[in-house]
Amino acid sequence: MAWQEILVEINHCNKCGFCLPTCPTYQITGSELASPRGRIAMVEALARSEIPVGVGLEEALTYCLDCRACETACPSGVPYHRILEAGRDQLWRERPATQRSPWIVRQALGAVTRPRRLARFTRWARRWQKVPLPASLRQFFPMLRPQQPLPPAPRNVPEAIYAAQFFAGCMMSAVFPEANRAAQHLLTMAAVAVHTPRTQTCCGALHWHSGDAEKARQLARQNIAAFEGTTDLIVNTAGGCGAMLMEYGEVLADDPVWAERARQFSARICDWATVFLRYGQEVSLVGEGERVTLQNSCHLVNVEKAGEDAVAVLERVAGDTFVPLPSQNRCCGSAGTYSLVHTDWALQILDQKMAEVETQRPDRILVNNPGCHLQMQWGTTRREKTQRLTVEHLANYVYRAAWKGLQQQSGASTT
Ligand code: SF4
Ligand code: SF4
Repeated sequence: MAWQEILVEINHCNKCGFCLPTCPTYQITGSELASPRGRIAMVEALARSEIPVGVGLEEALTYCLDCRACETACPSGVPYHRILEAGRDQLWRERPATQRSPWIVRQALGAVTRPRRLARFTRWARRWQKVPLPASLRQFFPMLRPQQPLPPAPRNVPEAIYAAQFFAGCMMSAVFPEANRAAQHLLTMAAVAVHTPRTQTCCGALHWHSGDAEKARQLARQNIAAFEGTTDLIVNTAGGCGAMLMEYGEVLADDPVWAERARQFSARICDWATVFLRYGQEVSLVGEGERVTLQNSCHLVNVEKAGEDAVAVLERVAGDTFVPLPSQNRCCGSAGTYSLVHTDWALQILDQKMAEVETQRPDRILVNNPGCHLQMQWGTTRREKTQRLTVEHLANYVYRAAWKGLQQQSGASTT
């Protein structure tokens, strides 16, 4: 987007500050430069050539989580993310190619486009998790704990009344494949037939948010081509991926060949919980008498607007008690590669979240995004009272409840 267009967007900001209380980085610093309003002012100064690309601008823009909470509070409808992306894009282009991203981010970006290698690493790390290592070594593996096994695939599923395509995602298929399986089984039980196109790839969210727009566009084109030929909804299990896929229309808006195809693709994106709740047949869900809480992915809430559907599915589980966190929809500090680069701030945000978890005393923390999953697992290890808490994807938990619901139904029909 040209600077002139960005300045038009910036002009909609009346500097009211309503967005400030929603911003996690403003909450931990109290600094205007770590707030949405301050960041918009910095990008405006850059667009008007009043400041150079330098340390101040770099800090203001890279310390933003891009969680989009500020957009939901803005009475003027300022599209903050476009302003941020324009500023980050300028930062990316002005850096020498070798210094565009820190080493750790380059590794993460490389890993997500090679999911097989990532899956091998995950299996290796989980094996080491079972080995009694000294505490100094164990601290490197808490985020890759073995997952609680899922029940087997359901038999005698109903005839499909609806069809959807499945976006697997690189992190979800490599690190948390059980959650994808659970969501697919749940949809099948709800009479939704699921098809997974083979030529799909990473959604490109990490590249896009790190400033590598060209690589993100390349991945977007591959995904659009992979899912064409039908008008079925495209479901996914990761809030971050879903939000990115939903914005391919914006990502490729200036590409005359792909813009319309991208808009059509984005209009079909839907979280698995929304399809399960609104398009499928009702499935009986029975819990284990636990207290459960949810860390809703901020992109699922603020961009996909599907956070309430995740809660609604959770509230259908009979016999369990849902204990919401006061800041259920606020970012946990993971934010793509943010926790790798700005670990100090990410941990401050995470510790606030874990203090809330402690007061709610859940048996289980549920998540709907792989970054949040790793971050919340990290959070549980940081406090004595939460160290034994299970963190798992919402789909795993709901699938177990659906299996128990099935068993109860078959028990009732034989008595
Ligand atoms: S995107 Fe999130 S971290 Fe960034 S300014 Fe908005 S609320 Fe703050
Ligand atoms: S972005 Fe919106 S809420 Fe924030 S200061 Fe500007 S107008 Fe106000």
